[in-house]
Amino acid sequence: MTRRRYRAGAVVLGDRAGTVHRDAVLDVHDGRIAWVGPAAAAPPSQAPETTLPGLLSPGLVNAHCHSPMTLFRGVGEGLPLDRWLSEVMWPREARLTPEDVRAAMRLASAEMLRHGITTSVEMYMYADAVVDAVHASGARAVVMSPLLAAPGWEHLGSLDEQLDRAVRHADSVGADPYVEIGIGPHAAYTVPLPVLRRAADLTREHGMLLHIHVAETRDEAADLEREHGASVPRILADHGILGGRLLAAHCVWMSDADLDVWAEYAVSVAHCPQSNAKLASGVAPLTGMLERGITVGLGTDGPASNNNLDLWEEIRLAAQLARLRALDANALSAADAFWLATGGSAAALDRDDIGMLEPGRWADFCHIDTDDIAFIPVESDADLLTHLVWSAGSQHVRDTWVAGRQVVADGVCLTVDEAATRADVRQRASRLARA
Ligand SMILES: [Zn+2]
Repeated sequence: MTRRRYRAGAVVLGDRAGTVHRDAVLDVHDGRIAWVGPAAAAPPSQAPETTLPGLLSPGLVNAHCHSPMTLFRGVGEGLPLDRWLSEVMWPREARLTPEDVRAAMRLASAEMLRHGITTSVEMYMYADAVVDAVHASGARAVVMSPLLAAPGWEHLGSLDEQLDRAVRHADSVGADPYVEIGIGPHAAYTVPLPVLRRAADLTREHGMLLHIHVAETRDEAADLEREHGASVPRILADHGILGGRLLAAHCVWMSDADLDVWAEYAVSVAHCPQSNAKLASGVAPLTGMLERGITVGLGTDGPASNNNLDLWEEIRLAAQLARLRALDANALSAADAFWLATGGSAAALDRDDIGMLEPGRWADFCHIDTDDIAFIPVESDADLLTHLVWSAGSQHVRDTWVAGRQVVADGVCLTVDEAATRADVRQRASRLARA
C-alpha cells in the first residue's frame, strides 16, 4: 500500500465546469486518487509529501492516434489525404516489421509523456508490438486491433483473420490496468459493411471499444454513398453498426441529420483539428456536436499528419476554429476546450477511470511550471485555466505520473532511453523510405 500527498500551487480538475483550486492537495493511494481539493479542507494524512510549486493537471487523453507513424513524420508533405495514403503511407507501411512498430511507439510514448499525455487511443498494425511499447514506457493506452485491407498489406491476413486476431488479442491482454484492446476498422470505404457489422457485434459482445474514421474528407466515401443513396453515418446506422462503445474519428463532413444520428446512437467523436487543417480536409462542426450532447474528445491523429503528438496545440486550435466558424468569441470557452482534452476525451472513450482529478480515478497527472511568462498575471482562478489554454503549452509540462508512478521528471522521460530510441527510429525510417 503506497500513499503520497502532493501539495501544489493549484490543481485543475479537468471537469466541464473548469474547476480550479489554488493552494491544493492531491492524495494518491495505490495508484489512484484518494482525495483532491483545497489544502485548507484536506483530511489529516501521515503520508510522505511532495511539494510542487506549479499547477497539477489531469494527464491529457489523446483520443485518436497512429503513434508509430513517428517513423514517417513529415513524409508526403503537401499531399491531400487520398494521395498521401495511397502513394506515400501504404507503400511504406507495407514494409513495416513488428520491431519497427515497437521502436516507433516507444519514441511516441516518450513524446506524449513529456507533453503530459498519459493515455492515447492507438490504431496501428502489429497491435501487440504497440502494447509492448506502451507497457515498457509506463503509459496507458486503448490499443485498437486494426482492420484494413490495403495494397501490399496481404501479409496481415484476410479481414476475417484480422478480426479473429483482435478477439484473441483482447483475451490474451485480459484485465490489464494499463492497456485495453479495441477493434479499429479503418473506415466504411475501406472495410466492407458485413465485416464492420461483425466487428460491431464482437465489440458489443465483449464490451470493447470500436474505433473508426468517419467523414474525414468530403469525397472519400462518394462511391459507397452513391451505391446506398445515403451518407456514411446513415449507412452505418442502417447496417446495425452503431450502438455500443463507438468512437468515430474526425467527423468533418457531417450534415445536421448525420449529427442527429450520432446523438441518437450515442456515438462519440475524436476531433482532430490540426490533422484536418494540415491535410486540408475541413473543419468539423464541433459546437453542433456539443449542442446535441455528443461526447467529444481531442486527438492528435498520427505524427505523419500533424506533425507532432502535442494535444495542447489541439486544445487551442479547437477553440480557435470553433470561434472562427461561428464568428463568436464565446463559441467554445477555455474551460470547455481544456475539458475536451481531459474529462471529455475520457468520456469519449467511455472511460470513467481516467481524464480527471477525482477520487477513485487513476492518478494520471502532470505538473505544469507556472513560474513562467505565460502565467503572468494571475488575478483569479479562471486566469489559470485561460492561460493553460491560450498562452501555455506542452513546453510547460515538467513532470508526469501514470497511476502514481513518476514517468517524467523535470522534462526528462524516465522510462524510455530517448537518445537511443531516436537513433534507432532514425535508422529504421531511412530503411523504410528506400523503396
Ligand atoms: Zn486517423
